[in-house]
Amino acid sequence: MAKYIFVTGGVVSSLGKGITSASIGKLMESRGLKATLIKCDPYINVDPGTMNPYQHGEVYVTDDGAETDLDLGHYERFTNAVIGKGNNITTGKIYHSVISKERRGDYLGKTVQIIPHITDEIKNDIRKVSRGKDLDIVIVEIGGTVGDIESLPFLEAVRQFIVEEGHANALSIHVTLVPYIKSASEIKTKPTQHSVGKLREIGIQPDILICRTERPLSKEAREKIALFCNVSKDAVIQAPDVESIYEVPLVFSRQKLDQLITKLLRLRCGSRDLVEWKRGVLDRIRHPKRTVKIAVVGKYITLQDAYKSIYEALIHGGIANNARIDIKKIDSGDISGGNAEKHLKDVSGILIPGGFGYRGIEGKIDAVQYAREKKIPFFGICLGMQVAVIEFARNICGLKNAHSTEFNRKTPYPVISLLEEQKGIKLKGATMRLGKYPCSLKKDTNSIKAYKKDKISERHRHRYEFNNKHRKIMEIKGLVIAGVYSKANLVEIVELKDHPWFVACQFHPEFKSKPDNAHPLFRDFVKASISQR
Ligand code: GLN
Repeated sequence: MAKYIFVTGGVVSSLGKGITSASIGKLMESRGLKATLIKCDPYINVDPGTMNPYQHGEVYVTDDGAETDLDLGHYERFTNAVIGKGNNITTGKIYHSVISKERRGDYLGKTVQIIPHITDEIKNDIRKVSRGKDLDIVIVEIGGTVGDIESLPFLEAVRQFIVEEGHANALSIHVTLVPYIKSASEIKTKPTQHSVGKLREIGIQPDILICRTERPLSKEAREKIALFCNVSKDAVIQAPDVESIYEVPLVFSRQKLDQLITKLLRLRCGSRDLVEWKRGVLDRIRHPKRTVKIAVVGKYITLQDAYKSIYEALIHGGIANNARIDIKKIDSGDISGGNAEKHLKDVSGILIPGGFGYRGIEGKIDAVQYAREKKIPFFGICLGMQVAVIEFARNICGLKNAHSTEFNRKTPYPVISLLEEQKGIKLKGATMRLGKYPCSLKKDTNSIKAYKKDKISERHRHRYEFNNKHRKIMEIKGLVIAGVYSKANLVEIVELKDHPWFVACQFHPEFKSKPDNAHPLFRDFVKASISQR
């Protein structure tokens, strides 16, 4: 039987509950325990797949094709947990299921209510994730901030869950803020007291507090928080700002958080082993041998979270090459009228990530042309591959006005287009090509050199595809089809010859990169960029 840890947050959002949960997962694994993680999101969307990146940040895709919250990306990067459809529970999903059951007559005769029907559904979905699996720990992060109306049913479900499982089997961790007030030169514990008070009103007494602080917590402050929040002193953990998120498990381990959790949950386990994490990841981050500047040319550049996994995967590629990556974020809308050089002349590699919609497309095409002509290492991902194909069609094959039908339905050369089976689809939610697909790699390509095998599996999230109608001419003109999904004859990777490193893939490799195991394409892209430098 798995044991449960519930992670809630208070005072303000953006305290890093996701990183905290992922780090706790890492700590549990470092003790030889098997863990999984769940994120509960209180919004009414069934999944974040239909949300704008400005609303939500990146949509993280799992092997089984779930479109999920970006925190699930942290879970997979920090731990070995296999994350899938069941690991992201939203209000939308819960209500959708309860209402379908009501229409089917499952609750015949009853009034369907938030308590018990919605809360039962939440508890059931949480329990389902570990059912039949050999897991020791399930970490459940509740999105939002205590006090939000939206998250109330989730918190009530957590309260019931802890009562049902008992305190030795389920514990509550609250992430809170301890701000430093400059004018008073003091840190303030009151917001934390209020937040814990709010949580207790709902009936949840936290066992452990994770205090986000800018300044170290004094012994007195720690004691005060412990006394007024009803937790033991050793359960007041501080989480200062750190340079790298991958340091957080070590910050927690120094304060013996793992020991505390395993004691409270009466878990039998081995001693902690974070040696490889420290040596293989953190020491390399702290002492890079070189710095390399890489441009990410996208349209959601101003938002930190929109390309989360891309930025992390670049950092991983850097770790693998003992390099610090200086990411130059370029808004593709700023590239126009032949000014690509102005933006790109100081970078050693160019990456174009995924995206939707026409805005900024022509700037991306110009950036591809610049990378191709100036022989700068280039990595195109999803939409990044599609614009690479468009650029090649227009400027090398002479297919004037070639385009993707996503952006120009009447283009004479629809080099990127919808498959027949996508044409009839009207619903927007969960209808793209999603999740893992196999891909076969061609000999003598940069791709096979990176992966060191010819059969791979990668995750997808797109509607449009390389149009095989124009494949012949492109191959004749020198485009290398480096990877295909054979069963459907779909082009998954294109490359260029006579170029130091030009790889563009239809899938999203960034979702499978880890700090201690960089994705091979990111690793080799960074390596090529270093050689370029
Ligand atoms: N908009 C493109 C498509 O739907 C690319 C999607 C993406 O980059 N994720 O095919």
